[in-house]
Amino acid sequence: MTPRITELTRESAAELAAKSGVPAYRAKQLLAWVFGRGVLDPSRWTDLPSGFKDAVGAAYATGDPAVTAVETDPGSTTEKFLLDVGGAETVEAVLIMEGDRSTVCLSTQVGCPVKCGFCASGLFGLKRNLTRGEILDQYLAIRNRAAALGRPVTNVVVMGMGEPMLNLGNLLPALATMNDPDGCGLGARHITVSTVGVAKGVERFTEEPRQYTLAFSLHAPDDALRGEIVPFPAAMSCAEIVDAAHRYLRAKGREVTFEYVLLDEVNCRPSHARALAELLRGVRGTVNVIPFNEVPEQPFRRPSDRVIDAFSDDLRARGLKVTVRKRKGHDIAAACGQLRLREKSKPAP
Ligand code: SF4
Repeated sequence: MTPRITELTRESAAELAAKSGVPAYRAKQLLAWVFGRGVLDPSRWTDLPSGFKDAVGAAYATGDPAVTAVETDPGSTTEKFLLDVGGAETVEAVLIMEGDRSTVCLSTQVGCPVKCGFCASGLFGLKRNLTRGEILDQYLAIRNRAAALGRPVTNVVVMGMGEPMLNLGNLLPALATMNDPDGCGLGARHITVSTVGVAKGVERFTEEPRQYTLAFSLHAPDDALRGEIVPFPAAMSCAEIVDAAHRYLRAKGREVTFEYVLLDEVNCRPSHARALAELLRGVRGTVNVIPFNEVPEQPFRRPSDRVIDAFSDDLRARGLKVTVRKRKGHDIAAACGQLRLREKSKPAP
């Protein structure tokens, strides 16, 4: 199968330039069109010679990726996109507009092997890893949409479908292109990768020299409860996650984030706040409390605002840094995998 244009690399661009008999700087111009400006249609590469454009068009499938569904929340602060990745499969990517920030949430796998109890992405397990180009396709498509709305992308979170640490072989090169000044030019500190904790992947990510932000999807203060919410045998234990957070700080000078989806009657009692504060005592990082947004297919409920406030205030009183994601505008973003699930369930036309 012909690779997508977003699989282009510095090396392959240079090779194509040499083969086409054009000067080496044409390769850099090509990369600027594709990753710098997100223009994937050769007819719009106005400063490139036609012979070179023809060679690129023969080597790569050009044009924008197919977007099969778009969902916008009522406040227009979040837009969710389904991108066709072939084989009757789609992945979700989300644009979240909040104050001055426009954040793109990216998927790394088709489906997910982790099967968190509150998430639709894991319902059918893992289908396959996304390629570097498929990850970049999501980013470029949403960055173009954000630019059209007058909202330049400021941040990337890798928190969509899939467990990123199980696809680092494709994710790290995609992030490198996003971060590269000759690529998309987004600062590494503006890129956050979220994981349930896969030891080898976290170790490799910690050794990565770029200053990405690391987030752990913790969701519980102890291994027994966490095992019920995140039933993935290969996930690191709570203690291992704490050790890894210390290591990340030592290696990169960067604090980590702990994501904590708040599920009513499950993980937000005062005893859970106490245990979480105990677990994270002495760890430099922030707990990001995410009240669950109810979706019909899941058995969990969103806690009341009173419970959300009490839980987060309790953590703060115990010395933790806490942020709370409360806005309803995040409804469709928080319901990871729902749009894909809904589209999958539609009868074939
Ligand atoms: S929350 Fe993330 S890790 Fe858990 S099943 Fe969904 S996509 Fe996978």
